[in-house]
Amino acid sequence: MSEKPARELWGDLAALKKIGMVQQKQKEYFALRLRAVGGDLTSAQLRKIVEVADKYGRGELHLSTRQGIEIHNVHHTDIENARKELETAGVYMGACGPRVRIIVACPGNSTCRWGIIDTKTPAKELDSKYFREDTPHKFKLAVTGCPHNCAKATENDIGVMGAILPAWRGDACTDCGLCVSICPTNAIEKRPLPDGKSRYVLLEDKCINCSICTSSCPADSWVVEKRGYNLFIGGTMGKIPRLGTILKKLLDKPELDTLIERSLRYYQKNGRKKERFGHMLDRLGAAQVKQEILDGV
Ligand code: SF4
Ligand code: SF4
Ligand code: SF4
Repeated sequence: MSEKPARELWGDLAALKKIGMVQQKQKEYFALRLRAVGGDLTSAQLRKIVEVADKYGRGELHLSTRQGIEIHNVHHTDIENARKELETAGVYMGACGPRVRIIVACPGNSTCRWGIIDTKTPAKELDSKYFREDTPHKFKLAVTGCPHNCAKATENDIGVMGAILPAWRGDACTDCGLCVSICPTNAIEKRPLPDGKSRYVLLEDKCINCSICTSSCPADSWVVEKRGYNLFIGGTMGKIPRLGTILKKLLDKPELDTLIERSLRYYQKNGRKKERFGHMLDRLGAAQVKQEILDGV
């Protein structure tokens, strides 16, 4: 990773901020924001972080709300040495300011029983494609393994969510009614048949693609028809919170990659300085922007 030595940047606070070195209110001191893609670090990396925090900080670490680790209270004369020592363990600096930030991800299907998708690979791909690219304002991406939404895809400028489309194969259905009662959005309707049996119908516009029905039906009568990615754009917390707007549901991976690329480029071209992606959507009209991104305008 080739970055300018921090000592050459001292005095250029914006350049330091870009590489995750943030001046504290105690102006001689910096907080070092570290880059843990999807919140993943090895135990060896954690040991090195602790060592550096002891040596150059005050033995204190801060866990950020976005899976980040920060070492606080590092004197400006030590920031370069601290960075070099972290890099020996493969720990690199994060980012701050108006640019693409560290990618957040939940564990996904590597360990979570609800995981619909692998979250780690897309998070790493997004990191290697876009990390630190300049944008009109801060730009946050998250990958979450299913609609439980633990990584808060809907609170990020770009949010990727694992999703399934269920289908009812009624042969073995015992008419227990469980799927109707457990669906979180009332997207399953029981309809009586003339022979006294029932059929169960998916109301697709209500379905949030969560897989609770396919995972819970005791007769395996709800099956996964399609597995993919739901893509949200324009989510943000902060001073003016806004939940993400769904751009498209149940995308395959190439479609997902294309639409993320287009969304980011659209924002870089049309966003105003210090205007979040979602607020640009509201200014220009979400329906219009969605259509232009989908059409590749
Ligand atoms: S979002 Fe889904 S896959 Fe990810 S941790 Fe939460 S429940 Fe598991
Ligand atoms: S949970 Fe399964 S078995 Fe029970 S009513 Fe629904 S589809 Fe039929
Ligand atoms: S996938 Fe989730 S939201 Fe859709 S029908 Fe099944 S339980 Fe309901």
